[in-house]
Amino acid sequence: MKEEIIRIVNEEEQNLKDIFAKVNENSFCNSKKVLDAFHKYKISESHFGKTTGYGYNDIGRDAIEKVFSYVLDAEDALVRTQFISGSHALTVCLFALLRPNDTLLSITGLPYDTLHEVIGIKKNKSSLATYGVKYKQIDLVDNDFDVDTIKKVLKEEKIKVIAIQRSKGYSTRKSLTIAKLERVIKEIRTVSRDVIIMVDNCYCEFVETKTPLTVGADIIVGSLIKNLGGGLASNGGYIAGRKDLVELAAERLSLPGEGKEVGPSLGLNKELLQGLYFAPSVVASALKTAILTAKVLEKLGYDVEPKYNAERADIVQNIIFKDKEKLIKYCGGIQVGSAIDAFALPIPSYMPGYDDDVIMASGSFVQGSSIELSCDGPIREPYIAYQQGSLTYEYGKIGLITALSYMEEECTQEKK
Ligand SMILES: *Cc1c(COP(=O)(O)O)cnc(C)c1O
Repeated sequence: MKEEIIRIVNEEEQNLKDIFAKVNENSFCNSKKVLDAFHKYKISESHFGKTTGYGYNDIGRDAIEKVFSYVLDAEDALVRTQFISGSHALTVCLFALLRPNDTLLSITGLPYDTLHEVIGIKKNKSSLATYGVKYKQIDLVDNDFDVDTIKKVLKEEKIKVIAIQRSKGYSTRKSLTIAKLERVIKEIRTVSRDVIIMVDNCYCEFVETKTPLTVGADIIVGSLIKNLGGGLASNGGYIAGRKDLVELAAERLSLPGEGKEVGPSLGLNKELLQGLYFAPSVVASALKTAILTAKVLEKLGYDVEPKYNAERADIVQNIIFKDKEKLIKYCGGIQVGSAIDAFALPIPSYMPGYDDDVIMASGSFVQGSSIELSCDGPIREPYIAYQQGSLTYEYGKIGLITALSYMEEECTQEKK
């Protein structure tokens, strides 16, 4: 680690006390909510037991779903390690809600990369499109919803499901706060009572105290190898919201007639409960790491999004490098500063589900976990790094210093 960089990071950190205090306050409120849920549902050691086979009568699994429901302001929830990750949970949810001739309307532009083949935006023999599910899209305007167009389409056409993706994915737009979500949902409800509003909530959990369900969404979906897994969940995803819709999702994940009743927890209940218990604090660490990164990189002359003092909707920090080598070296430096596989060097390559080559630094305990310090980006202009996580702020800070030291060293060496 370079002395000069340590000095700059420490100096910039001094200016973040008030902002960090707000992050801590938010984490306090969310921690209180998690603890209230544990108390309300009398969580005890008996919930850590496991089921195998069909997984009937898994009291731990059922309690976890009650706790998640409480924390997410949901009527019901499906929280399962049978979901591989968030993308799978989103897929199950879409297939559960949509039928032939129904229309899915995305009002946040192009959805997350891994959903392109699911919807059929990119050809795939198993897509929703092959079942006759139609797809439409309305782009954001100035980083906010195009309310007029949305209302016009809802008046003119029969839309079954509206999809909203809060986090930016690999796009250059801003992520969407609960306040923006609340406004658009109110507008949607003035023209349609029944359209199902589904929210991809990946990376946004516990960043604020309200959830999309608090402000009127019908169903939300997320990944357990991101925020709510607290770094402890080995895999999994969740779907939460209206009871009737969660039941449809359960019957798609397992089978019609069995729904939530089956699905063995295989000994993972404690991990999910403890992960959720840590999650508010882990999300706070990720946020503070993101804020410090924004502050320091801006100081060093780079464009960042969001800025250190902006209102945040998710834990993702962008650094717009505008330089391919810098993006690759910065990601390399994040890997060097990781706990696991720090000796490995990430190189850009093809990833299933993604259009461009992607570089991914993820020296994580759980494969691909991006609540742990990680940094990735598609190899395309303007060469944006998407940095997420850190289970603790201290490791995040060390990761940042290491990445900057490594980037500077490698880039000067290359010039010689
Ligand atoms: C990460 C992400 C997903 C997919 O989640 P995985 O757990 O990686 O499958 C979907 N949507 C958004 C917006 C994401 O950020």
